[in-house]
Amino acid sequence: MKNGPEPMVTSQLSFNNNNKDALSEYGEELVRKPAIAVHSCCGPCSTAVAERLARRFRITLYFCNPNIDDEAEYKRRFSAQRAFVRAYNTSPGCPEPIELVAGPYTPAAFLKHIEGFESAPEGGLRCRICIKDRLEATAAFAAMNGFEYFTTTLSVSPHKNYEMILALGREIAVRYALTFLAEDFKKQDGYKRSIELSKAYCLYRQQYCGCRFSKSSDGGI
Ligand code: SF4
Repeated sequence: MKNGPEPMVTSQLSFNNNNKDALSEYGEELVRKPAIAVHSCCGPCSTAVAERLARRFRITLYFCNPNIDDEAEYKRRFSAQRAFVRAYNTSPGCPEPIELVAGPYTPAAFLKHIEGFESAPEGGLRCRICIKDRLEATAAFAAMNGFEYFTTTLSVSPHKNYEMILALGREIAVRYALTFLAEDFKKQDGYKRSIELSKAYCLYRQQYCGCRFSKSSDGGI
């Protein structure tokens, strides 16, 4: 794997969707592609999603995961995310660079939101709140930065309920005047592909979903 410069991690986009001069170096095909903000739960899941979307969209990964239980784990996961983007952007076959944006890390707000549902089973109400918050943050980011589409890597995991993600995504999309890209990324061996790619990119793969309550669960990532 080639080493390269650190990917740009910004709180704002560095490209302007209307600036054709800035985009012309990537060719006309890029100018026609819509921009998508992809909520990313982690580097490994984002590998297979980026591969699947790269020919259709200009991708910005929005790493927004206040559910992660402690800062050291958050940093490990973000570091894997950044390593993937750096390797992807400098690989010879890269269709075009991916942008990476770090959302706010607010674990106290997450714990406040899921209060009363701490012991809910994985996939239940606690997860619904957690997923909704992360989708909502991604939609807000997308709307503020001129994106047409948003989606999430969460459906890569076989442990995540796609119907729940879809319902939340569609409801949020209406409120933000965006289109939620309805794709179940675990289909067509998406999960298997994420494992293959995360091994190829030598990425850290966590063994639990994220919050402290998922550490003792067998729900997986
Ligand atoms: S198990 Fe995962 S999705 Fe559910 S609340 Fe915890 S971090 Fe969020």
